[in-house]
Amino acid sequence: MVASTPRAGAQYPRSIGEFQSWFSTDADCLDYLEWLRWPDGFVCSGCGHVGGWQLGDGRFECAACGARTSATAGTIFDRTRTPLTVWFTACWLFATQKDGISALSLKRSLEIGSYQTAWAMLHRLRAVLVRPGRERLRGQVEVDETYVGGAELGLRGGRQKGKKVMVAVAVERVDPKGFGRCRMAPISDGSADSLRAFLKDNVEPGATVITDGWQPYRAATRELYVHQRHAGASGPEALRLLPGVHKVSSLAKRWLLGTHQGSVDDAHLPSYLNEFVFRFNRRRSRSRGLVFYRVLELAADHDPVRYRDLIINPQPDPHPRRPPASRGRPASIERPPANRPWRRAELPNSA
Ligand SMILES: [Zn+2]
Repeated sequence: MVASTPRAGAQYPRSIGEFQSWFSTDADCLDYLEWLRWPDGFVCSGCGHVGGWQLGDGRFECAACGARTSATAGTIFDRTRTPLTVWFTACWLFATQKDGISALSLKRSLEIGSYQTAWAMLHRLRAVLVRPGRERLRGQVEVDETYVGGAELGLRGGRQKGKKVMVAVAVERVDPKGFGRCRMAPISDGSADSLRAFLKDNVEPGATVITDGWQPYRAATRELYVHQRHAGASGPEALRLLPGVHKVSSLAKRWLLGTHQGSVDDAHLPSYLNEFVFRFNRRRSRSRGLVFYRVLELAADHDPVRYRDLIINPQPDPHPRRPPASRGRPASIERPPANRPWRRAELPNSA
């Protein structure tokens, strides 16, 4: 990993103009990934040896064990047939658009051949956003549950499970006013065990957990947290007492309905929520280029995400052009034969 404070204009592009001039070819992109992955020189992923040489085909050969590898091997770009320039542009759009981008918009703006390819690219980018061991929320943390899914916005009808998915929300309060970071994750129910598991994953022990009067929070917070409970708070009163979680959940629902047109299935909801959290927690970042850098840095350090792991519940193409029977298998969509002329995106500056 590169030093934690990269320089604008030198280590990441400040503007679309810089982005285009830096990454006009696949070789440019590969250079950048090499630098992100091995800032102090090549390190063999097989034996851990530091040092080697670059071969004519761009791969590196370990000086100790002779293993050959490329900067994309073992990352989310592993064995991809999508040109790196297209990947980088997708990543730029993903990182620099305030609300992100839908698979359909990505397919259109990059002229990617299939909706599934665009959809899988975005899911691979989402998959890298959650670092293991990331810091949990601290200080004063509001916690509540809400329901996501369905067509209605901002509905919160009791705790019984309906068609919607129950999602736990945690938001840091900042003194004297305002909010810090947030976390969201689906939970199976509103029981003390489910809430406690969410808290342990997302809130640092010792923090003050602020909730409404829902009883299970007593057991969920026991011994790990300071519990500040607003018994009987509901309606406008709850909004006043827990403004952070209400704000975050309504923003998340608006985002799912807006950018993604509400077309988010239960199986993939966690990764969409992770994307929302990533965006919310970087909402004050002055440089979108830095967000681009962070996403790529995570991508270059993330294990490959297999297509079959993404399609637990594949999303149908909202605008199919051909009858389903004539479409290729998912594997052929993802990995077209080498001789198939790839429909390259019309990137400015690309040869
Ligand atoms: Zn080696």
